[in-house]
Amino acid sequence: MAGAQHSLCPDRRIRGPPLSVHPLAPMRKNMSVHFHEEDLPEGVLGPGAVAVDTETMGLQLGRDRLCLVQISDGSGDEHLVRFATDSAFDAPNLKAVLADPDRLKLYHFARFDLASIRAYLGVMAAPVYCTKTASRLVRTYTDRHGLKDLVKELLGHEISKQQQSSDWGAPDLSDAQKDYAAADVRYLHALKERLDTRLAREGRTELAQACFEFLPYRAVLDLAGWADQDIFAHV
Ligand code: MN
Repeated sequence: MAGAQHSLCPDRRIRGPPLSVHPLAPMRKNMSVHFHEEDLPEGVLGPGAVAVDTETMGLQLGRDRLCLVQISDGSGDEHLVRFATDSAFDAPNLKAVLADPDRLKLYHFARFDLASIRAYLGVMAAPVYCTKTASRLVRTYTDRHGLKDLVKELLGHEISKQQQSSDWGAPDLSDAQKDYAAADVRYLHALKERLDTRLAREGRTELAQACFEFLPYRAVLDLAGWADQDIFAHV
């Protein structure tokens, strides 16, 4: 399959069992999942922060290629950009959004997504907000900082992680995979709101911001060979 080609039906709506109800459901009249090949169409995102997630063939970025980038402006639509096996990762619209210094990117575990985007798309997708880092700074009463745990505790919704370890390199992604991938960016705007309130309450907003600003460098350290080392550790 040729590299940079666009989907013939970029607005395909995902069918299947109803998704769990979103906290902002009454405002999300036309919520839908949009699937694209090789790049984001121009102008599909509103202004402001975007939620971003990636799916790869595994956790070893030198070995395991980037398969999917999910992105949402928080208005209720999620966009999935799929990269083929032989992709040239030439995605000018997506890269422009990711590299935009005026657009905050929301992630859950930014460290990995920043590294996968940097490794395959060649851009540093900052500035950064990471819901997992924020959670670690405020939810000190638990060691459960997975997206599913956060969405359940802070937003009161159940999301499935069943498709997490599935074949994201398959020529055709299943509707279950697409629903799962979209759900990974669906709640990040709402989570940021809740976590910002908690960070302020605990007096850790500045500390969180400093961590977010370091995350791009943490990702570069991972890619440069320091992935398994805490460079701040004594031994
Ligand atoms: Mn994901």
